[in-house]
Amino acid sequence: MAIKISKTEQPLNQRKSSRFIKSLSNDEWKKKLNPQQYRVLREKGTEIPFTGKYVNTKEDGTYLCTGCGAELFSSNTKFDSHCGWPSFFAAFDDKVVLKEDSGFGMRRIEVICKKCGGHLGHVFDDGPKPTGKRYCINSVSLDFKKKK
Ligand code: FE
Repeated sequence: MAIKISKTEQPLNQRKSSRFIKSLSNDEWKKKLNPQQYRVLREKGTEIPFTGKYVNTKEDGTYLCTGCGAELFSSNTKFDSHCGWPSFFAAFDDKVVLKEDSGFGMRRIEVICKKCGGHLGHVFDDGPKPTGKRYCINSVSLDFKKKK
């Protein structure tokens, strides 16, 4: 069950938790995450396409950050992109940060969890309506909470 937080309280809670979680050291993250999660979330790795556990998930629910549990994406925005990674046309407002990434000789926009700073994936401009965006996200960065 999602807890409703009033608009005035929300930013304060987010600031508090983000300060706490981002202050974890690499060793602390290594204890908290499995090696695959660490490689993607903390070292910007990418899982092999079509291998992630949420590529074809169609159930109703919410996708959370495996690093910190923040709610990031709704199943209502998930679509079949055929690109090999779970894809969404929108993220929950104010839960992700976008950052220019010029690694691997490509100019891409990296998608980062606002709360813990974990790498989630990239966003592209070839998504469906209504946003035209494709948030291409690694399954290992996500947990799924089924709607009850
Ligand atoms: Fe996170």
